[in-house]
Amino acid sequence: MAETKIPRATAKRLPIYYRYLNILLDADKKRVSSTELSEAVKVDSATIRRDFSYFGALGKRGYGYDVEKLLAFFKKILNQDTLTNVALIGVGNLGHALLNFNFHKNSNVRISAAFDVNEAIANTVQSGVPVYPMTELKKQLIEQQIEIAILTVPTTVVQDITDELVDANVKGIMNFTPLRISVPDTVRVQNVDLTNELQTLIYFIEHYGEQLGDH
Ligand code: ATP
Repeated sequence: MAETKIPRATAKRLPIYYRYLNILLDADKKRVSSTELSEAVKVDSATIRRDFSYFGALGKRGYGYDVEKLLAFFKKILNQDTLTNVALIGVGNLGHALLNFNFHKNSNVRISAAFDVNEAIANTVQSGVPVYPMTELKKQLIEQQIEIAILTVPTTVVQDITDELVDANVKGIMNFTPLRISVPDTVRVQNVDLTNELQTLIYFIEHYGEQLGDH
């Protein structure tokens, strides 16, 4: 399949569509209309139709979309048919929680290696995942062909570790620290600042409480 350039906002909605289509498939539903889909995933149907048009998946009027075909299509785009191994750096409170969670409801991604500088935890197995000392970072990432890393380390060390990850050819970093890290153009960063997200939510509730639902 040729590389499809899709807008970021569309790409972000893909996993939502994918999850719901799987539910439909499990329920033996053969087709779905953009209106039905819209109600289920809370995205307006015009947006859904536009999103789908980027993939060349055009629903037929009066028929909707073929669930199985769409799923097969999304699976390819989302790489759901291949297992992606991910590394986690920093097995503190948050790191532990993520190891324990380990994306098991979505079996195509998993944390397969963890790293920590703390000697008490290095060379142990936590929630079924081996924890390596930081001295082994590059070696293990290259050997295990891991290209994605999750950062749950203190902010004071996050840039240094990022540089090490770049040096080990990592292509994507999920950054759970509040610090914005610098990477070359070839590396993609996804920032997840939980405290900030929660504070934003509280801010919206406090300031726009009466008009919720408008955005
Ligand atoms: P969290 O921030 O997840 O709640 P915490 O408060 O338990 O964690 P932090 O001090 O934030 O602990 O550290 C998170 C983890 O990162 C710890 O397990 C710590 O040992 C590890 N860590 C600290 N420095 C480094 C480093 N340079 N390289 C790798 N891991 C590190």
